[in-house]
Amino acid sequence: MVTIAVTAERDGEARVAVSPETVKKLTGLGCAVRVETGAGAGSRFADAALAAQGAIIAASGPEALSGADILLKVRRPSAEEVRALKPGAIVAAMLAPYDDRAGLEALAASGASLMAMELMPRISRAQSMDVLSSQANLAGYKAVVDAAAMFGQAVPMMMTAAGTVPAAKVFVMGVGVAGLQAIATARRLGGIVSATDVRPATKEQVASLGAKFIAVEDEEFKQAQTAAGYAKPMSAEYQKKQYELVASHIKAQDIVITTALIPGRPAPKLIRAAMVDTMKPGAVIVDLAAERGGNCELTEAGKTIEHNGVTIAGPLNLAGQVPVNASSLYAKNLLAFLETMIDKKEKVLKVNWDDEIVKGTLVAKDGRIVHPAVLQGA
Ligand code: NAD
Repeated sequence: MVTIAVTAERDGEARVAVSPETVKKLTGLGCAVRVETGAGAGSRFADAALAAQGAIIAASGPEALSGADILLKVRRPSAEEVRALKPGAIVAAMLAPYDDRAGLEALAASGASLMAMELMPRISRAQSMDVLSSQANLAGYKAVVDAAAMFGQAVPMMMTAAGTVPAAKVFVMGVGVAGLQAIATARRLGGIVSATDVRPATKEQVASLGAKFIAVEDEEFKQAQTAAGYAKPMSAEYQKKQYELVASHIKAQDIVITTALIPGRPAPKLIRAAMVDTMKPGAVIVDLAAERGGNCELTEAGKTIEHNGVTIAGPLNLAGQVPVNASSLYAKNLLAFLETMIDKKEKVLKVNWDDEIVKGTLVAKDGRIVHPAVLQGA
């Protein structure tokens, strides 16, 4: 029988790596699921709700971990937690593999097979395991809801006997998974939405959501998407044209949601301090790229500041602020991944180490870091 351990997260992380639904499916696959008491509390998954679906509630973290074959976490576990598992156990979590190299090496030294969920290849077979998408989607939603709350004015147009309240203008910068959900959410709230990106494929997506597409559409724009579907860093010449376009557009905006990222690089600076100076007092910027340096020059990661009457928020874990949904989706991502590694008939672990999704996520095995990109630090 395969034993799966789930322990509580630390540092205010409200998410958890299983849900009642995935406990049921995992026990159905013949796994024993040991969950540390209270681990689901931040996501409103009570011990009793998890136990009702077959989870074994452990009185402590060490009790859940002891001799387990698999550890499921949201964030990187401690080396102590991993050492308590069976030798060579599997750890699946958002490991932040490019951060804290010494800590990662200490985890690797335990001999566990460390799998970083954020490195999941973006192939169609792995869509159900794509944690970046499941979490970014919720972050895009929450960014708009939070911005609307900070805005202090109504978002939809309202025609009343006492006069008309104008609709708020919402500008979404970066139209990946988070940006698309931000557009959809802002439209549902009744905002007048515009959006920009450097990848031509986004033009149609923006239009299909009923928003206006704004971009510098030159020759470079036509080539801005990599084979993997991501944006390329843009030339200084393109950036200059983009600044001019954004500067003229942003002046009239009430809410700006920025989500622009380039893999392995700092977030592109799309909003200069001088542009913020031209914005209306009461306007709100929510910078989802804060963790990677921010798309706005004035963003302070993890803080909400005010500059000349403009609120600039740089939240760090927005998906974690919608924990019930974030945990449910993340747990489903993990379940889909584990299903590929468990022999359903014999009820044992059978990992195909040559599988693209295993190779893509495997950061460390047999005591050393094995992932080529992580080894290169890129
Ligand atoms: P991301 O988080 O890397 O970046 C967010 C957005 O910022 C992207 O749309 C990017 O083009 C944009 N951006 C980068 N530099 C910019 C700039 N200078 N100005 C304006 N915008 C800029 O992106 P993501 O959400 O991870 O999505 C990236 C791609 O992956 C998309 O093509 C998406 O459709 C694709 N995707 C595929 C799968 C799958 O097949 N499993 C799953 C999710 C996403």
